[in-house]
Amino acid sequence: MSTIVAISTSPGIGGIGIIRMSGKEAFNILNKIFKPKNNSEIKGYTIKYGNIFDPESNKIIDEVLVSYFIAPKSYTTENMCEINSHGGQIVMKQILDLCLKNGAILAEPGEFTKRAFLNGRIDLVKAEAVIDIINAKTEKEKDASVCQLNGFLSKDIQDIEKELLSFTADIEANIDYPEYDIEEVSTKKSLEVLKNVKNKLLKLKESFNNGKILKEGINTAIIGRPNVGKSSLLNVLLKEERAIVTEYEGTTRDTIEEFINIKGIPLKIIDTAGIRETENAVEKIGIEKSIEIAKNADLIIAIFDISQDLKDEDNKILDIIKDKNAIIVLNKIDLSVNKTTEERIKSLNKDIVKISALERKGIDEIYDKIVKLYDLNKINVEGENIVTNSRHQYLINQSLISLEKAINTINEGMPLDIIAIDVKDILENLGKITGKNVSEDVINEIFSKFCLGK
Ligand code: GDP
Repeated sequence: MSTIVAISTSPGIGGIGIIRMSGKEAFNILNKIFKPKNNSEIKGYTIKYGNIFDPESNKIIDEVLVSYFIAPKSYTTENMCEINSHGGQIVMKQILDLCLKNGAILAEPGEFTKRAFLNGRIDLVKAEAVIDIINAKTEKEKDASVCQLNGFLSKDIQDIEKELLSFTADIEANIDYPEYDIEEVSTKKSLEVLKNVKNKLLKLKESFNNGKILKEGINTAIIGRPNVGKSSLLNVLLKEERAIVTEYEGTTRDTIEEFINIKGIPLKIIDTAGIRETENAVEKIGIEKSIEIAKNADLIIAIFDISQDLKDEDNKILDIIKDKNAIIVLNKIDLSVNKTTEERIKSLNKDIVKISALERKGIDEIYDKIVKLYDLNKINVEGENIVTNSRHQYLINQSLISLEKAINTINEGMPLDIIAIDVKDILENLGKITGKNVSEDVINEIFSKFCLGK
């Protein structure tokens, strides 16, 4: 395999920049461009201080620290070094170019982690956890990913695989050597094994409900007829002016999506266009979309203007949220309160918060209501596996389908070799989770989502 190099710290200026190199030639390339103050023999897990220089001009490029990792004890299991330079874009680019000029090639996104996987140091679950830690939007999501990187999910999957492999071995012995005195795989024992596996897989499947919230956020739609203050509220929530606040109706034609972290709860907020009947084709797209989004949302924040009479569109919205997880926000309390509107909405028995988006009053109460609705403290990420990855979820579901088939096969009194086929299907799907039998396309797809230098 070639020797790869990349800038691992994020683009921009920082105190320190790290240029990372991995491969057989890593130390040879480094030797051509690095003069350490101490020329002693290279040892793993040590750091040397010195200068990076251009071998052509002998010009000093930067004063650096270099950490050494000797194969197989490194992130990729190959020889690796990390050059800690000053964190300027020019400096890092110059060092990167020197590595490239002296024999390294530019790493693809995620290639270091891909090598760790291909070289067998980590399985696919752990590799995917790496990118999830980097991309985590809340502490809980990060904690769940760290758990996966530490191998808790991999271990659960491996335990299930072991159980099924030993079961398959028993079945095969029965099929292949019926004449020998091998203990017969009884229906009772088969069902016991499969039901045990089913319980374990179901627990993982159920954990995805929480995992999805941790990873993708709670799909939240802010709905309300035009001018009630949707954009104003969104802006307050985002604490920055990203949505368009306007005096005219219907400018928020399409939808805007934003992630916000409310007291550790990730909300994926979708700002929808005002819900109302209109002949205007362009606006209609937005309105239809907003009704649809509201229907599919996990949480609806429905806004009404408390200073005005309820209009037809308001009633339509009240109808949509009747059976949904919704928080009602009565906006514009800084203006006079319309008692009829207030009484009508109060009669719905939903969570109500009174605010003034304009004066930023009552916003904390929205946060409190959300925290009450989604108490993420209940999600225990320590010592418990939470499936956060939809690829894993799909494969667990597929495994459960085959498992159900196997159980039915046994109940129908079918021969052992048919059960063996279903069990092999389960093993194949589980193997795809840990990466034992995934195609190159899937691997490339997974690592393409990584950042450079990881
Ligand atoms: P949207 O169409 O629902 O997104 O409404 P906007 O956020 O664009 O607000 C419509 C108008 O109402 C703007 O002129 C806002 O300044 C105003 N507005 C929003 N919230 C409040 C509020 O709490 N009090 C008052 N008095 N005006 C508000």
